[in-house]
Amino acid sequence: MMRVKHSLLQDLNFNDVEMTAGGNLKDSPLAVILLSDKYDSLLAEEADRIRREVYSDEVYLRGLIEFTNYCKNDCYYCGLRKSNSNITRYRLTEEEIISCCKTGYELGLRTFVLQGGEDPYFTDEKICSIISSIKGLYKDVAVTLSIGEKENESYLAYYKAGADRYLLREESASPSHYALLHPENLKAERRKECLKALKEIGYQVGGGFMVGTPYQGVEEIIADLKYLYSLSPDMIGIGPFVSNPDTPFAHFKSGSVELTLRLLSILRILFPHALLPATTSLWTLDSNALERALKGGANVIMPNITPKRVRDNYRLYPGKKNTEKEAAQTVAELVSRISAAGYRAVSSKGDVRRI
Ligand code: SAM
Ligand code: SF4
Repeated sequence: MMRVKHSLLQDLNFNDVEMTAGGNLKDSPLAVILLSDKYDSLLAEEADRIRREVYSDEVYLRGLIEFTNYCKNDCYYCGLRKSNSNITRYRLTEEEIISCCKTGYELGLRTFVLQGGEDPYFTDEKICSIISSIKGLYKDVAVTLSIGEKENESYLAYYKAGADRYLLREESASPSHYALLHPENLKAERRKECLKALKEIGYQVGGGFMVGTPYQGVEEIIADLKYLYSLSPDMIGIGPFVSNPDTPFAHFKSGSVELTLRLLSILRILFPHALLPATTSLWTLDSNALERALKGGANVIMPNITPKRVRDNYRLYPGKKNTEKEAAQTVAELVSRISAAGYRAVSSKGDVRRI
């Protein structure tokens, strides 16, 4: 047992992957691990050992506020894409966003994630005003933004207004694969430039990708792991691609929950300090995957505190859970599931712990 574990960790040493990078990645040790379920329990066990060493049994809750479902982009996989006329579009007002934060704060949440499509209505001025209102009201919270690609000056303005973190998945580090998931005007290189700028400004930065997107093979996954390794992000969000009938990828099947869980454990082993969410798309496809993700290295959950009235319209993919629940019920249920799984939901900002 120990020998297998030892050799597995040797295999996971990124230098090995670097060395095989020039050759055939399909034969790299990491590819073998990715393609087999043989090591799954060993990976989860090792990931849990590492997460407990760095983060103890703590799980951080982030209040997710989906404040606009308008988007100027047309990503082939996403239900918010501008060409989708099958969703009802909405925007929250600043007052509504603040009211979500108030509810969340009373429930013990100390991070608010403002997520949305790339919506030109929300000018830099409006975004900065929302950030500074939240930070003015609550001194002990972190504000995370997830609003896509912006100019560097905009990123800087949000940071100065008080934003602490920024989530921008690279989606695919491979330019050729990225081009198969996005229209011509969106480029992998631009995405990476944004991530670099965000890091340089001083944000805690989150990258990541969907697992099982069309045309993604083991080589593409390894390219993402290698890219993330060089970026050294504070947060990494991965979740299965969920097929959406209202998109050009309607006929592709959704990604694998098992592979996502395996990758989560691999990420924990490769990035001991990272904040790793058990993402919504993961437990949308399999509700038990939440506990399995926690037991395999995840240490963040993002309860949705968007007003019930609009929650169902933020439809990246079908099957979204908890659209009928009040924020209080969602949070209470998550806290008890976390505790039943052997972890502890803590009321803290939950900053990254670099070791
Ligand atoms: N517009 C911003 C952006 O693209 O970064 C933030 C919002 S976007 C909806 C957040 C994430 O949702 C994306 O990074 C993408 O990985 C994920 N997503 C979009 N469509 C999805 C789908 N069909 N299945 C799973 N995840 C999806
Ligand atoms: Fe817009 Fe983000 Fe969806 Fe792309 S993934 S269509 S940028 S909301």
